[in-house]
Amino acid sequence: MFRKILIANRGEIACRVMETARRLGVRTVAVYSDADAGAKHVEMADEAVHIGGSAPAESYLRGDVIIQAALETGAEGIHPGYGFLSENPDFVESVAAAGLIFIGPSATAIRAMGLKDAAKALMIKAGVPVVPGYHGRNQDPAFLAAEADKIGYPVLIKAVAGGGGKGMRLVERAEDFATALISAQGEAQTAFGNADCLIEKFITSPRHIEVQVFGDGTQAVHLFERDCSLQRRHQKVIEEAPAPGMTDAVRDAMGQAGVKAAEAIGYAGAGTVEFIVDGSGGLRADGFWFMEMNTRLQVEHPVTEAITGVDLVEWQLRVASGGPLPLEQKDLSINGHAFEARLYAEDVPKGFLPATGTLTHLAFPDDARADSGVRAGDTISPFYDPMIAKVIVHGATRREALSKLENALSATEVAGSVTNLAFLKALTRHEVFAAGDMDTGLIDRDLDVLAVDPIACSKTRALAALGFARLSGENAPDTGFSLWGSPPQTASYVYRGDMLEARIVAQSPTSFTVEIGETVHALERTGSVWFVDGAKTRAKVVCLAGNVSVFFGNSYHFEGYDPLDQQSSKGGNSNLIEAPMPGLVKAVFAEVGQSVKEGDRLAVLEAMKMEHSLLAARDGVVAEVLTSEGAQVEAGAALIQLEEDA
Ligand code: ADP
Ligand code: ADP
Ligand code: MG
Repeated sequence: MFRKILIANRGEIACRVMETARRLGVRTVAVYSDADAGAKHVEMADEAVHIGGSAPAESYLRGDVIIQAALETGAEGIHPGYGFLSENPDFVESVAAAGLIFIGPSATAIRAMGLKDAAKALMIKAGVPVVPGYHGRNQDPAFLAAEADKIGYPVLIKAVAGGGGKGMRLVERAEDFATALISAQGEAQTAFGNADCLIEKFITSPRHIEVQVFGDGTQAVHLFERDCSLQRRHQKVIEEAPAPGMTDAVRDAMGQAGVKAAEAIGYAGAGTVEFIVDGSGGLRADGFWFMEMNTRLQVEHPVTEAITGVDLVEWQLRVASGGPLPLEQKDLSINGHAFEARLYAEDVPKGFLPATGTLTHLAFPDDARADSGVRAGDTISPFYDPMIAKVIVHGATRREALSKLENALSATEVAGSVTNLAFLKALTRHEVFAAGDMDTGLIDRDLDVLAVDPIACSKTRALAALGFARLSGENAPDTGFSLWGSPPQTASYVYRGDMLEARIVAQSPTSFTVEIGETVHALERTGSVWFVDGAKTRAKVVCLAGNVSVFFGNSYHFEGYDPLDQQSSKGGNSNLIEAPMPGLVKAVFAEVGQSVKEGDRLAVLEAMKMEHSLLAARDGVVAEVLTSEGAQVEAGAALIQLEEDA
């Protein structure tokens, strides 16, 4: 076993790796950027090395600096986590050249799976079923259109270098093919510097089922499947294991296909073989096709750990340090069912807009596993993925696990940033998902019901009033004078821009009547438990920096009322294109003097792993381009100015 390793990553996955390392007595070295100087992964590590600026290109992508840090601290191996350098074969070679061990597969194996077209060719050779389609060299648009006709619509255009759902277009009709190809190629070129695309049959009612594999460089085993069909923009939202409706025969066939894929490239370490599955009418042993292989530990690996009892990071460390595969296939089995939900700082009703903010309060229930790279007080910065945590639950059956997930999400408390918590919770209550009948289109189809924006009920508002009046106990400092029996007190505060005025009568230090408008509620506290109109609740009131959060099934936030701070709304300015969030300008398509049409893509902003197209709000002529490719911009920064209308 290693004595010391360096973790070339940040956030929850760096923390996750360190936890296992610590348990195995392996010392850990963290690396960090400017923005992460005070981060949780830095605190957890035995040593930490500063490697550069906040932008990934200046720090977490600096292979040379990271290898130097490993050498200087005496680390023997480098764990790459996921993302950043984890699937970069040149980095793997440099690590080996420096005499260090890369905790993951060989550069050759990564290269073999790096491009989707080459990977598919390889899989066909290995006898693994792949989605019918064209994945050759010829990129002539007319030729590709003819191939699409041959495959039969609908088809999917995919960037061969693609990842994270980028460079992908669904085309339903032949007449839309040419335009879709141009836009996929454009996105692929900006995102990956490689415009090449492949064409695939679009599987209808598709389910995404993937197989966890683990190899020692020669042989591989599989640790069963995960179902990741709940997706938005081809990105996973809730994952589970095992897959609902899976039969022993299909599991065997998929598992063996996964093992074949891994062994075909001499795979070492943890990997995932992704399949697209025809979900119309039951799973079939001839109804799944290889999509791609991810040559690293996957975000959703904890659901596999939950049902197998295996610590995949421990296996990675054991095998990378020269040990054999810890278990044989026959020793692996499935116990119960597990779910993982990805908690993000994002504004769901606003189209899942990534958010930033300082998490003034953060708490997870004790009976769920929460893998998180942030603590209360930490900031979700614009530089990285806005994930706050992964909430993982395990139960004897799928139904039990799903109900545990709903409870765990209800009991998760976040203040300081908008989150997708209510969206995740709505998913746990979705009937089709509950029945295990989902396909990858479920979220898009039912977005209106899922993208709920829960509004605080009158009970929640009354509880908030006690927070502002410093009468909610625990977090509220004692005001030092007694109010009970005294005349009513009032509290003024703001909820979603509206002022609320509450009249509070205290019957005792822990018992109140709160009146807001027409509604009156009796609120009583015993210890930390709130009784509302006589009924016991799990509500919690937290006061922070002049604001109050009430956690009552969902997270609700109230602001102190400041008469001087009357917001002046700026009013929309359709002449100016601004950055909707802090980010990196990936591309600028506008030139001074150019005529543009409403909806034209004028620039691409990359923020938190996602690309956002910035569109012209009206027809007009570009007056000024105030930014350039590669610029890091703040939220609200002016990017492109159109000429005033004549
Ligand atoms: P990425 O590298 O971006 O993860 P994938 O090839 O893994 O790209 O595909 C991402 C997602 O797109 C899949 O999880 C699935 O939801 C959808 N998808 C991919 N290929 C197909 C297909 N042939 N038919 C239907 N959906 C597909
Ligand atoms: P739960 O998960 O306990 O059913 P919900 O997530 O359904 O709670 O909460 C939805 C709304 O119902 C919230 O606005 C919350 O204020 C309110 N609520 C939750 N529990 C109670 C309760 N015991 N009594 C009254 N209102 C409640
Ligand atoms: Mg994928």
